[in-house]
Amino acid sequence: MAIIYFDNNATTQVSPGVLEAMMPFFHDLYGNPSSAHSFGGQVAEKVTDAREKVAHLLGARPEEIIFTSGGTESDNAAIRSALADRPEKRHLVTSRVEHPAVRSLFRSLSKEGYRITEIPVNAKGELDMAAYQESLTPDTAVVSLMWANNETGVIFPVEKAAELAHEKGIPFHTDAVQAAGKIPVDLKNGAIDMLSLSGHKLHGPKGIGVLYVRRGTRFRPFIIGGHQEKNRRAGTENTPAIIGLGKACDLAARSIGEENTKVKRLRDRLEQGILSMVPHTRVNGGDVPRLPNTSNISFDFVEGEAILLHLDEYGICASTGSACSSGSLEPSHVLLAMGIPPSSAQGSIRFSLSVYNTEEEVDAVVGRLPGIIEKLRVMSPLYRAGKRGMPSHAA
Ligand code: PLP
Repeated sequence: MAIIYFDNNATTQVSPGVLEAMMPFFHDLYGNPSSAHSFGGQVAEKVTDAREKVAHLLGARPEEIIFTSGGTESDNAAIRSALADRPEKRHLVTSRVEHPAVRSLFRSLSKEGYRITEIPVNAKGELDMAAYQESLTPDTAVVSLMWANNETGVIFPVEKAAELAHEKGIPFHTDAVQAAGKIPVDLKNGAIDMLSLSGHKLHGPKGIGVLYVRRGTRFRPFIIGGHQEKNRRAGTENTPAIIGLGKACDLAARSIGEENTKVKRLRDRLEQGILSMVPHTRVNGGDVPRLPNTSNISFDFVEGEAILLHLDEYGICASTGSACSSGSLEPSHVLLAMGIPPSSAQGSIRFSLSVYNTEEEVDAVVGRLPGIIEKLRVMSPLYRAGKRGMPSHAA
């Protein structure tokens, strides 16, 4: 069965060009870039190239790029560095809709005695900028706000938020794991101090990421050991993955236009198809700036998990925003923060596309969904009761 992969915010296919670029570094070019000999030295040169490519995608300088093991490590390293640098500050600012890589860290820091402000969002998923401005105090150690939401794709005005933090002398970190490669990011003239990126979200390999640290920002390493990454991240470099990430960033810099035309067109076709074919559906975060590849849709009267299982039977991969924890289905914290009732949040599906998707795939999903949803809805007493009282066109 052919797979229709609409789960690109979870992870992406490694581009053929990326895989090809990585292969020699597993076998022929296996030297350690820190070695004194030229066999290692030639690998070090390729790592330098990769660093330049990553820097180019971000509008950064190569020396501002630190390779890490992924988005989660970058988020942890950025936030821990800011705290270690200003231990007297005990207040942290974030949003209510962050990925667990930031959210869980902040929750754990609150147990260590930090005071946390989680800025709310409105029904469209937009950050409450007035609440944000009020939250910044002389005791604030760091702000961490995501650039684009992984569940809804909603984009936060992080450049503006960083300026506001800077006016008060507060360091600003952004989790750009979902934004990088999908929308333009240019750090040159902005106020963002630290930024996280992950290889596997932009057609690079898993287990590699980047922490950008602006020149002049004091940085305290999270992982201590050898002198790699100019003493900022110890551990022998994952050279195949670094090379792959460099190539992925290079390709992303070139395909960002396609992302915002072809992928957006496919996403919009999918959305229009679903909304017109399936009643009682809504796009969450659909009215505000959002990633071109992401669509989060609520299907009333059904469980998202049940939709996923049925889609899976046809080889269609998507995801729910909900996390399955200790046997109980928890509605997505992102959708709840937007004021979406738990029942609707539980019936929400995230479709996330990539340049590798096609119109035929979109049409296949739009073709399958109405039958799946109707089949599930007829099992819902609420839906059946409502349907009896509805005009026929609304059923
Ligand atoms: N931040 C966001 C917004 C994400 O979507 C993810 C992954 O889903 C991460 C962080 C974690 O990145 P990684 O899987 O590279 O640790």
